[in-house]
Amino acid sequence: MISDPSHWVTQFPRCGGLRQSPINIVTSKAHTNSALAPFNFIGHNKQINISLENTGHSATFRLPQSVGLSGGALPGNYRAANFHFHWGREGSPGSEHTIDGERLPMEMHIVHIKEPYGSLTEAEHDMAGIALLAFLFEETAEDHPHLDTLIEALGRIQNNGSSTEVINFRLSDVVPSASELHSYYRYMGSMTTPGCEQAVAWTVFKRMLPVSSRQLSAFISKCRFWTGQPMTDIFRPTQPLDGRVVYKSNSGLLLPSLTLVCSFCLLLHI
Ligand SMILES: [Zn+2]
Repeated sequence: MISDPSHWVTQFPRCGGLRQSPINIVTSKAHTNSALAPFNFIGHNKQINISLENTGHSATFRLPQSVGLSGGALPGNYRAANFHFHWGREGSPGSEHTIDGERLPMEMHIVHIKEPYGSLTEAEHDMAGIALLAFLFEETAEDHPHLDTLIEALGRIQNNGSSTEVINFRLSDVVPSASELHSYYRYMGSMTTPGCEQAVAWTVFKRMLPVSSRQLSAFISKCRFWTGQPMTDIFRPTQPLDGRVVYKSNSGLLLPSLTLVCSFCLLLHI
């Protein structure tokens, strides 16, 4: 079932489509596009209470609609729905996107839905109905100063269906501010879990987030799948590009007048 991505396509035909994610990003082949403007993050600095649920396949942190984004050469405003992590197993990395063939230890996704859509189902017919922000992690000697709160919360949702709350959480404690995230890759792709909806404008930031080996081991060991097995290797293998172009922002040269026009060029160049 869901734990074996090679079988998804039999039950979810869209998982065999031509715009699937994740992908391997070949940095030397990414096309520079100066229309890829910085983001404006909304609500990242506010203290919020968020719920966390073990869905049986992953651990999902639900975000309130007060969190969102605009900018980033995306065609509209987007509201956050949730964030979650992809990881491997002890001693084996588990990011979904790979950079020049290298898999990183872990990857965080923040899922946003374009306004005025209210759900993935409503957004899935729009090629950029979903905006997914991807943060790759690199292993560091020092702990990430704010991940332990999330790790402790994961420890409270060991089993399928269990949930908990994280009080006074700020997204800005975990991810950098938009002003520090001018460099990113953009391509059009899909959700990385069934039904693999091809409605995602992907942003993979060049800047990586720190995680210590202690924190990584903790992430990997807290939860169990619906089968009762340890929740490990929760990433989909990379998918063929099938002629798609990966763009990279040119943070040094921004031409605001082109930004609006080229929000649409980006979508048409697929
Ligand atoms: Zn994800």
